[in-house]
Amino acid sequence: MALEIYNTLTRKKELFTPLEPGYVGMYVCGPTVYSDVHLGNCRTFISFDIIYRYLKYLNYKVRYVRNITDAGHLEGDRDEGDDKFSKMARAQKIEPMEIVQRYTLGFRDVMQLFNTLPPSIEPTATGHISEQIAMTQTIIDNGYAYEKNGTIYFDVEKYNAEKPYGILTNRKLEDLLEGTRDLDGQDEKKGRLDFALWIKAKPEHLMQWPSPWGMGFPGWHIECSAMSSKYLGKQFDLHGGGMDLAATHHTNEIAQNEACFHKSPAQIWMHTNMLTVNGTRMSKSLGNGFLPHELFTGAHALLDKAYSPMTVKFFMLQTHYRSTLDFSNDALQASEKGLKRLWEAYENLQKMQYTLGEINVEIEEKTATLIHGFDESMDDDFNTAKVLANMFEIVPIINSIKDGLMPIGSISQNTFALLQTKMKSYLEDVFGLIPAQESNNNNLANVMELLIDIRKEAKLKKDFATSDKIRNQLSNIGIVVKDEKDGSVSWNIG
Ligand code: AMP
Ligand code: ZN
Repeated sequence: MALEIYNTLTRKKELFTPLEPGYVGMYVCGPTVYSDVHLGNCRTFISFDIIYRYLKYLNYKVRYVRNITDAGHLEGDRDEGDDKFSKMARAQKIEPMEIVQRYTLGFRDVMQLFNTLPPSIEPTATGHISEQIAMTQTIIDNGYAYEKNGTIYFDVEKYNAEKPYGILTNRKLEDLLEGTRDLDGQDEKKGRLDFALWIKAKPEHLMQWPSPWGMGFPGWHIECSAMSSKYLGKQFDLHGGGMDLAATHHTNEIAQNEACFHKSPAQIWMHTNMLTVNGTRMSKSLGNGFLPHELFTGAHALLDKAYSPMTVKFFMLQTHYRSTLDFSNDALQASEKGLKRLWEAYENLQKMQYTLGEINVEIEEKTATLIHGFDESMDDDFNTAKVLANMFEIVPIINSIKDGLMPIGSISQNTFALLQTKMKSYLEDVFGLIPAQESNNNNLANVMELLIDIRKEAKLKKDFATSDKIRNQLSNIGIVVKDEKDGSVSWNIG
């Protein structure tokens, strides 16, 4: 079997044929760095990391571009108001780029804790202002954008007269228009769906740049068109992001690229489904976002205990990336047990020495089929859940050998060797799970739980000398303990 990928654009799985044999260009919309990434964001980035790793496992040379949105993303989805960075900067009385720096570093730390690989290029919107201006100018020159008082709008109706604007989510312009409110007479836009490529800045605006249309800043959508075309060319293989980006951000990216280059950017559009909490999408604006460190420390009302990054990642891999995934303490607990069981079997497997014996045809065939199923499942639109299901069927075989219930020679030497190498490639290289971190993190979390308990008891007894000593000495070794307003205690490695 060869790799098939579900394409949002065609609404079916397609055989993956890279534009240039042996090479893959992949663009993924990165985080908007104005606050901490939540676990939903992490799901999307972890999914694309596994996809990147699998493409490398298939020996493709992959250029993986994931941007950092550090300008242009406005508060609401209308083209007005402050951008998210300036709003935070104003509130905290610091520079917008301090906000950007803080959350970019935080994002990278979290991605490292999940053992994801850094992308090949991580371009920033602020580093590509001239490219965004140039692209905007070409779109104006080609007749698909217009200026109103220093702001440049994309003319959706004009574009739609030639090319279907809603092609990505298979919707007609009339249907899309239904979901928008009427222009109120004050609006600069000609059409309700028109969106800004460049936005005029008020004098007090904190992030602004000179342009042929005066001082301003780029719209959010144009940054991805400018950066993907710069680093991957006008057409490339894969474009990804969360499903919530398809209807607007990615739809606008396609329109911009077509209007500028007369080409649709990506062959295949991939969208990850949402991480939900009690069935509702996890999101910053809804206030139901779990932060990764709340999981790693257990400091959240919905959690009984801390979970390691590998448990959280394993929990995510047990569901296909195009299905929703509901987050709960019980599900995490099950994943923790599952990962432990799998990892123990894997470690035992790696220590085993093969000796010839009488092959049990049934076990031999079953084992071989399960192992071949790894690649088959990943070739079937990156079905990590199916790979793990196969692994869990292999675990009892490994355990039977380990416990002396079945001779190792019941399976052939070839199959046994394949089992050892494929389990290693998948668990460590494709899924990027790390065993050592698993136990170290659990140990640290357990020790912290104990210290926090002792401190709590000391405080109850008004023994503040002891409680302060615990907090101060932890702080000296870089662990910050914080008393939360709700009475709980959190900690992080600061
Ligand atoms: P943002 O920082 O808001 O631009 O989002 C970064 C990425 O996370 C985007 O690809 C979003 O589609 C994705 N995302 C946001 N919320 C969720 C969620 N609840 N589950 C999965 N992905 C999400
Ligand atoms: Zn984007």
